Amino acid sequence: MIGKAGGSSSFICPISSLPLTPRHNSCFEREIPPTRTKWHNSELEGVRGITMLENGTTQMRLAAHTLGCKLNYSETTTITKQFADRGFSVVPLGGVAEVVLLNTCSVTENAERECRHLVRRALRNSPDAFVIVTGCYAQLRPEEIASIPGVDLVLGAQEKFRLFEHLTGFEKNHGPKIFATEISDEAEFHAAASPATDGRTRAFLKVQDGCDYSCSFCTIPKARGGSRSAEVQEIVERAVRLSEEGFHEVVLSGVNVGDFGKSTASTFFDLLRALESEPDVTARLRISSIEPNLLTEEIIELVAGSTKFCPHFHIPMQSGSSKILRLMQRRYQPELYRTRIEKAKALLPNAAIGADVIAGFPGETDADFRDSYEFVESLDLSYLHVFTYSERPGTKASEMKDVVPVHVRRERNQMLRILSEKKRRCFYESQLGAEMEVILERGDGLPEGFTNNNVRVRLHHALPVGTELVRVRLEEVLGDVVSSTVVEVLAGRREELLPIL
Ligand code: SF4
Repeated sequence: MIGKAGGSSSFICPISSLPLTPRHNSCFEREIPPTRTKWHNSELEGVRGITMLENGTTQMRLAAHTLGCKLNYSETTTITKQFADRGFSVVPLGGVAEVVLLNTCSVTENAERECRHLVRRALRNSPDAFVIVTGCYAQLRPEEIASIPGVDLVLGAQEKFRLFEHLTGFEKNHGPKIFATEISDEAEFHAAASPATDGRTRAFLKVQDGCDYSCSFCTIPKARGGSRSAEVQEIVERAVRLSEEGFHEVVLSGVNVGDFGKSTASTFFDLLRALESEPDVTARLRISSIEPNLLTEEIIELVAGSTKFCPHFHIPMQSGSSKILRLMQRRYQPELYRTRIEKAKALLPNAAIGADVIAGFPGETDADFRDSYEFVESLDLSYLHVFTYSERPGTKASEMKDVVPVHVRRERNQMLRILSEKKRRCFYESQLGAEMEVILERGDGLPEGFTNNNVRVRLHHALPVGTELVRVRLEEVLGDVVSSTVVEVLAGRREELLPIL
């Protein structure tokens, strides 16, 4: 395994099983003859395999791909930017590229198989591409990743932001290298922000990383380390910059965002208050997800009195059964969850409230599931994200008895999904007739986007290219979208925006 061998070195070579450090590493120091080097750019000094053009740019292309959460996505963007700053152009995975970057997730089922498949896909069109794999799965199982044919470099959580320090070149290795320090050594907070997949209208801003909780099913604390965050002022400045860059929405993201500030003696409420009172933060703000025990009354009250914060709370529940919550080592009981929902709905009747629920956790009997289902049904929720429980090596839950058969887990998942659809439809119907702002996403077909309370809207007519923000009237629920008519265009790229015909 990775780790400190003998207490001094930080890495273990997957080939030789010898302890390695960046300076005392047979793989790292192996001399690779440069095949196409021409050194002009000081930023690239020490990184071989790059051809510089006359105009100072390179011919190198990076294909980047993210698995997992929004946090991973924003981190990929930050790493991609390091490549772009060095003259790389960025292409989608599968396109011809000299370098491939995969940012993996440990929550994904079959993470290893998925990674193997993506490496194969990437190499199909670019057999000589230099393949870098990082992210949570690379931190937890670096040897597994390194054993995938075609992988050249595996970077752990701490190393991924210092990628260029670990590179000697982009020529394919004769064996993979691993740089992954023990996660307990991970202490820094690395800021990240990225546009959402919908282009330049919404951005994810990473405000927090890591987690100090020990939910019995979760590998994230091992993959990402303890809770840490940036200073309040730094986040505010980043939100101002994103507003100035024209983003209409900033999503505050993290592993456990409600735990913000532990490392800086501030609180998540301090951050929200600072963002609320900064006039130059003009983008609307959304909290990505917050643990029920950290969603305090003062946070709900602040959101209720705000014109910036979206009336939308995503509150992981995982189970509505007291017994299962205890087995999961969650830090609340169903009644606390209920009080949070009731408070939010009392102050914000139109708020969207979503929950994560896991089906088939070990020990979940039919009676426990029924308790959980009835609890979920009784709450004024707008939608559910339902997960089928699956064992994660190294977790307490994976060693628990009374495992639920897989087919029963799936049946329960299906029941919860149907319940989610009913709740979503009911919430959407309650919003019909309202006029709301919608940030449009880029995509094929008719324009779509979300209201601030998370109603997915589809317009039944096209709009001029470049339209980004509109006021719409919500008219008809069509499956998982609400068909709507534009009442007013509020913003778009000026040079492209034409009047609606
Ligand atoms: S709160 Fe629990 S589920 Fe969420 S990241 Fe932390 S340990 Fe994992």
